[in-house]
Amino acid sequence: MAKTIIVSNRLPVKMSIKEGELSYQSSEGGLATGLGSIYKEGDNIWLGWPGLATDKKNTFKDEITDTLQKDNMFPVFLTSKEIEDFYEGFCNETIWPNFHYFNQYIIYDDDMWKAYQKVNRKFAKAIEKVAEPDDTVWIHDYQLLLLPEMVRSLFPKISIGFFLHIPFPSYESFRLLPWRRELLMGMIGADFLGFHTYDDMRHFLSSVSRLAGIGNSNGKINVGNRKIMVDALPMGIDYQKYHETASAPETLAREVRYRTNIGETKLILSIDRLDYSKGIPQRLRAFEQFLKRHPEFLEKVSIMMIVVPSRDSVGKYKELKEEVDLLVGRINGHYGRLNWTPIHYFYRSFPLNALSAFYRMADVALVTPMRDGMNLVCKEFIASKLDKKGVLILSEMAGASKELSDAIQINPNDIHQMVDALHQALIMEEEEQIQRMDVMQKSLQRYNIHHWVALFMERLKFIREEQQSLETKIIDDLTRTDIIEKYSSAEKRLIFLDYDGTLTGFKGNPQMAKPDKELYEILQKLIDQPQNRVVVVSGRDKTTLEEWLGHLSLEFIAEHGVWKKELDGKWKTITKITGQWKDEIRTVLEGYVNRTPGSFIEEKDYSIVWHYRKVETGLGEIRTRELTSHLNYLAGNKNLQVLEGHMVVEIKNSEINKGRAAALWVDKQKSPFIMAIGDDWTDEDTFVAMPEHAFTIKVGSSASAAKYSLPSPSEVRGLLTQLGQA
Ligand code: UDP
Repeated sequence: MAKTIIVSNRLPVKMSIKEGELSYQSSEGGLATGLGSIYKEGDNIWLGWPGLATDKKNTFKDEITDTLQKDNMFPVFLTSKEIEDFYEGFCNETIWPNFHYFNQYIIYDDDMWKAYQKVNRKFAKAIEKVAEPDDTVWIHDYQLLLLPEMVRSLFPKISIGFFLHIPFPSYESFRLLPWRRELLMGMIGADFLGFHTYDDMRHFLSSVSRLAGIGNSNGKINVGNRKIMVDALPMGIDYQKYHETASAPETLAREVRYRTNIGETKLILSIDRLDYSKGIPQRLRAFEQFLKRHPEFLEKVSIMMIVVPSRDSVGKYKELKEEVDLLVGRINGHYGRLNWTPIHYFYRSFPLNALSAFYRMADVALVTPMRDGMNLVCKEFIASKLDKKGVLILSEMAGASKELSDAIQINPNDIHQMVDALHQALIMEEEEQIQRMDVMQKSLQRYNIHHWVALFMERLKFIREEQQSLETKIIDDLTRTDIIEKYSSAEKRLIFLDYDGTLTGFKGNPQMAKPDKELYEILQKLIDQPQNRVVVVSGRDKTTLEEWLGHLSLEFIAEHGVWKKELDGKWKTITKITGQWKDEIRTVLEGYVNRTPGSFIEEKDYSIVWHYRKVETGLGEIRTRELTSHLNYLAGNKNLQVLEGHMVVEIKNSEINKGRAAALWVDKQKSPFIMAIGDDWTDEDTFVAMPEHAFTIKVGSSASAAKYSLPSPSEVRGLLTQLGQA
């Protein structure tokens, strides 16, 4: 049976070797709880590093493997050198600062990059040992950005999800990394990519567009022939656990104990790992300012500041620790009294019941990261407030701020705003506290960790099903044989071929897409067969078509159905229409060309086109939005239609379309074999106009009314070559 493999850098265990004995404890973090519903079931497994260095001669590897296996886990062993270069190095001194916009802290080091590649490959090899092609692999976080593509190349059909737990930076930050393209291409090996917030998602999509030249439509991107999906999926907490722990006897006993120690002052709570992204010094300075500006709160309020040791072998973290120690010493030294300590500072971690007691006791939670992918502490604080009394001050730079709009939100760089927020929080009426807390609790209760896990799996399944339905449309050997047989036995055949994107690929300049030798030969073979009538159905103007293909015995539909040329060789208009409307529209388009370097106007007899292929990425799309709404307004009363094509906006008379023109051929000549091939949505009119027995073929993988699809123009040429030889 197909299984699910969870992959993360760390396994959810704490392992150590003390006095020659292996000690082992499973860790109860939020992610582990949420994913417990997956990896603990059946044959599913969680694959990752068990958390201790195992150099070559380590004798514990087998024991570790056996121990983990009992709990559905599979180890990837790392040596101390790998931990240094990969984990502490590339992960935490290159990607971490870059993704959190601390670019001045980035270390650019080729050896660290090599270690990152090597360890990602190590993970891929481990997956290869346990995976089957119909399994699902869910890869987590920034340590494994290359892994999705590595797994894809081992198992082309496997289902891969990826979730990034930290922010994805704007392209302006990401582009600094020399290895940006490799990292990105690694990620898009996945079928579904989840981020905490919409901003992370749009930053990622913008990098995909700029570095890989792939645009998106509603978060879906075509990576070659594979359609993948990107979405915002904020991670929740195990709400029930925090809610229940807040009333556990051990929690209440601790609360009594702590209260006796610190006295009856109001309490501001601050909990983070030691990290420069958390804004700890900035928070301390804001508290210092607060005491200075509001002396009425001296002896009345304290901060309980918990800093959990983390990455202390990384240089920047050591410096930060010293800075925090100094600030705490300075503030306590200056403001402290015999009976009152402004900052209760703990550089250690606490068990859940202790944290829960702190959450209960706190009047204010002060969560002010400079940048944070999500931040769980603020969510845990809210879930623990059984009486709904308490105020959350939250940095707008935390992913959680997108969901928790009822918190007091601050910019952590604005010390005055933080001081004001502290004041506002400390004097807030209970009624308002309860009101705000209630809204936030309801939201966190609903979007909890179990919801997040289920939604992720559901989204991954959704895109896989869509991929499969697109795949079933791809012409396989059976359909190909059927097409060739029907073609061979028909005494009359009608073939409609779109030009750009169907017979040739797209080029920077539309004039460069002219037919090559191969294409001439393919078309010649088709028209040499007397049973065939071959109609080129194009949006291009008749002069170009005539120049490129007019010498062949082809028939034509030009300008999306304005002109036709049958075997008699004469160009005729299909409907009586005028082109007078063009003057006004041209003036509008010229305004856009003036404002948009790289864009240009192409004028046809009965339509006019604005091209933006060469415009700066992103700007062209923005201008298109503006232009189409502008044009839709103008076009309404003129019977005009505004069409958005591949890097173009075309305005034409709405009575004209390719399908209406193609129907003239279908009606005139009853053919047992009809085939229509096209790539963009102007060809959809052709597909719809075809009779039931026609073979309609869409080039590319987006939704279409066509019965079949082919991945690219070269596949179209392949099929036409086969027909030409039939
Ligand atoms: N935490 C803990 N022990 C402590 C302090 C904090 O287990 O002594 C937990 C806290 O409950 C939270 C996590 O550490 O679940 C911190 O997560 P967050 O997203 O806020 O920050 P991160 O460290 O992941 O950047």
